[in-house]
Amino acid sequence: MSRKPLIAANWKMYKTPAQAQDFVKNFLPLVARHDRDEIVLCPSFTSISVVIAGVTGSGVGVGAQNMYSAEEGAYTGETSPLMLRAIGATHVILGHSERRQYFGETDETINKKLHTALRHELVPIVCVGEVLAERESGKTEEVLLRQTRGVLAGIAAEQAAPIVIAYEPVWAIGTGKTATPQIASEAHKVIRDEVGRLLGSQIAGNLRILYGGSVKPENAAALMREDEIDGALVGGASLDPHSFAKIVNY
Ligand code: PEP
Repeated sequence: MSRKPLIAANWKMYKTPAQAQDFVKNFLPLVARHDRDEIVLCPSFTSISVVIAGVTGSGVGVGAQNMYSAEEGAYTGETSPLMLRAIGATHVILGHSERRQYFGETDETINKKLHTALRHELVPIVCVGEVLAERESGKTEEVLLRQTRGVLAGIAAEQAAPIVIAYEPVWAIGTGKTATPQIASEAHKVIRDEVGRLLGSQIAGNLRILYGGSVKPENAAALMREDEIDGALVGGASLDPHSFAKIVNY
């Protein structure tokens, strides 16, 4: 099964539009003609348009870090999939652990967003992953199964092809602790097998599962060598164009 790896940058709440523009200017020459992996930048909402303008014609995609599950309405402070599509965003990160931890997102709310993203042809990068206490008490598999089932509830196989899942063990995000390639592979296999049971072996076989959690230029190659790992969702190390380019060019 050949799955084109996807390397996505999650800039979190960093970079003004001018800083985002600067990143693009410095980054694009470092990945010119790079074709092996799909590259996606996910700036904060205020920088999406300038980043889209900057990457035009380069093959680099641009996504949002979140969106709301309704098309429009009285939802102060939220951003709709229609708005993202209208400015040219193609991807959206859903259910990042920081959204779960600080903004009350649950498998149920993420599932609603996933349905909406698919309806509007945004490529969803859906995050799952256990916290440290869950790993230490042997609950990783149970958590991954629960989250995978929860976020995919009601999704039919015919709609599922665009979905990307990011396995992001919460204990590895922003901590400098990376899951070993073996730990990540085992988790990806749990997720892929469950997707197979839910949506069939063809969807599971084609599903891209990204690893996220302190990916850096120094550990990217070892992670990406694993058959089960189909790319990376990169936080801290994606803020610098040289470091993110090194990861892309692992
Ligand atoms: C993330 O924010 O998705 C992430 C993986 O962060 P970091 O690479 O900084 O651990």
